[in-house]
Formats: sequence, structure tokens, C-alpha cells
Amino acid sequence: MINHERLKNLLIELIKIDSLSRRERDVALFLKREMEELGAEVEFDDAGEKVGGNVGNLIAHFPGDRPGAAPFLLSAHMDTVAPGEGIVPVLDGTILRSDGRTVLGGDDKSGVAIICEALRAVREKKIPCGPVDVAFTICEEAGLLGAKWLDVARLKARTGLVLDSDSVGFLFTRAPAANRFEIAVHGLEAHAGVCPEKGINAIQVAAEGIARMKLGRIDAETTANIGLIEGGVAVNIVPNAVLLKGEARSHSEEKLAAQTAHMIRCLEEAAAAHSLTLDGQVFRARVEARVERDYDRLNVADDSPLVRLVRAAGKNLGVDIRTEATGGGCDANVFNKKGLEVANLSTGMREIHTVKEWLDLKDLYLSAEMVLEIVRLNGES
Ligand SMILES: [Zn+2]
Repeated sequence: MINHERLKNLLIELIKIDSLSRRERDVALFLKREMEELGAEVEFDDAGEKVGGNVGNLIAHFPGDRPGAAPFLLSAHMDTVAPGEGIVPVLDGTILRSDGRTVLGGDDKSGVAIICEALRAVREKKIPCGPVDVAFTICEEAGLLGAKWLDVARLKARTGLVLDSDSVGFLFTRAPAANRFEIAVHGLEAHAGVCPEKGINAIQVAAEGIARMKLGRIDAETTANIGLIEGGVAVNIVPNAVLLKGEARSHSEEKLAAQTAHMIRCLEEAAAAHSLTLDGQVFRARVEARVERDYDRLNVADDSPLVRLVRAAGKNLGVDIRTEATGGGCDANVFNKKGLEVANLSTGMREIHTVKEWLDLKDLYLSAEMVLEIVRLNGES
């Protein structure tokens, strides 16, 4: 059903259009034409203005020819991670990769291309189907920002798929909630050679706090990371400030709260061990933590109509669909938080967020067949 050559060419064309987060306009305008050509009604929302980008989320409505069927959402993100400018896709047999200087951008141009081709095939082969909403989001890689600003009242669909994960045959139905935080550790500045005893070294306090922390894989459901640290001014100054940036994720809200509190407590305990008195005045190291909910957990039940639909489509194509948990967050987390039921279907992208990113076109074609079959089956609902 899927036109392989056309899908391959579309993916390559999309990959060649630069679309770092907040700069998705060129690819968005390309997709607007693509969607309109397929008979969709297209609108952009104001998410771009909200996040300081150059375009909003693209929302396209396909009426379908079975208006009685439940509307279905297909979504993928238009932005790619750095280094992702001037991507030169290199095809080696059926393997598509970059020339090694940039990512490939299969994350998530593969999802975008699959949606376009599946809908093109529906139209071309006159396959009966229900209404389909398409949401091509911005700024997924910048913290799911496009999805966060997307007003789901603009969508008719209340269930659907995000196409934004790797191996074919996987449907990601569970993903963790995440907190991200910035923690400032304050010490006291002093000359490092003349009077170090008049200083409190914020780097040392931070180091002691981090050394106490459980980080990395905490348990099967929970992970934690300190990903950035910056501080200090010069080698001869006792540093008075360090900024740490980190995150914690868990499939369990209780564990997420406990891990977040643990990380802050470790730094507070370290700070409590550092104080000094100068001219009768007491100075103490201190910690200022700002915790933000990055995204909420994703949890679509195995016996939900959505999972049953995807499994049925897989069965028709001889693909055994496995539902899986992932440690990553994606737009589906946000859509579910907003009351939709959305899971994340694989597209064939591999080793994403690295310059070694690659994709086997055979996986891409199979994913597109899956999406087409899902849309067709949904039309029978
Ligand atoms: Zn992605």
C-alpha cells in the first residue's frame, strides 16, 4: 500500500530542511503545502510566540469519508536536536545515516514522513477512513514545549499515536514523570591565598552534596542525574556560588517525590556542615532549589481500545506488537496529561541524539504500513 520510493524521497527532503527547536518554520510551511495538497484543513497555533520560536504547531484536519468513525490523532515533532544544520543524508543500501557531522534528524522526521505517506496512500488508494487530526509539533526537544502549549480543544480526536520512538513492533505505553531542577549553592568569597579561612568554598559544598547522592539508575522505575554544573570565577578566589542542573524521573509519583527530596537534602546537609564566624557575624553555606515538573507520566492500559487497535493492525501485517515502558518523555506524556489517550509508536529511528544516528528504510516502510492499517481499522470502528 505504501509507496516506498515516495516515502524515502520525502524523508530525505524533510531531513535536508533545517529545523532546530524554535526554528521550524521552513519545514512547517513545507508540511502545510503537503497537508493541503492531501485535502486537509490546516491551521497554526500560537505556540511559537509563547516559546520564542518562528512558527507554531501545525494542526491539520482530514475529514475522512466515514464521519461516524472516531477521529484519530497522528502526531510527530518537527524539530531536531543539534548538531542538526546542513544535514547531508547518506544512503547505504537501505541504511540512511548522516555524513557523521550532524544527527540524521530521523528523530522525528521519520514520524513526520510516515504520517504524510500514510495519508497520501489513504487518498490514492481511496481507503475508507474516519476523520484524522494531524499535529506536527514544535520544540519537542526543548522540553515538549509545543505539545505543552497546544490547545487540545483544537483537536477533534481524543485518542491516537505519537510517532517518535525506535524499533518497529514497539508501542510505548508507559513513560515516567520527570522533575527538573536548578540548585544554587551559595558559599562565601575570599582570597584563596591571603585569607582562605574567611571563605566558604561553594564548589566543595556542592561536591560533598553530590557525593552523598544516589544518582543514575535508582531502581527499575526511577532514574536521576546531575547534568550540568557551573561555578567559580578564578583559581585564586574561593568560589561563592555554584549552579547545579539536574533531573529525576520515575514511573511512580511517590518515588519521584522521594528522589527529588533526597537530592536537595544531600546538598542541604553538606551546606549545614560549612559555616564560619567573622567579626562576630555567622556565615553559612546555603542551598536554593527550584524544582519544576518537566512532564507527567504516560500510562495507557494494555486493554485500552487504543492498544487493541494497534495490536489488531500489527496482526494484520504479521507484526507482533509489544507494549513497553520507556525511560524517556515525549509529546504523548503531555497529550495524556491533557486528557487524551495517546501512545508512542516506533518509526525505525536508531541511536538518536548522536551523529551516528541511522535508520533502516525497511523499518520506516513497515511503520508506515502500520499507521495506514491503524487508520483503516479505526475507520471501521
Ligand atoms: Zn523525538
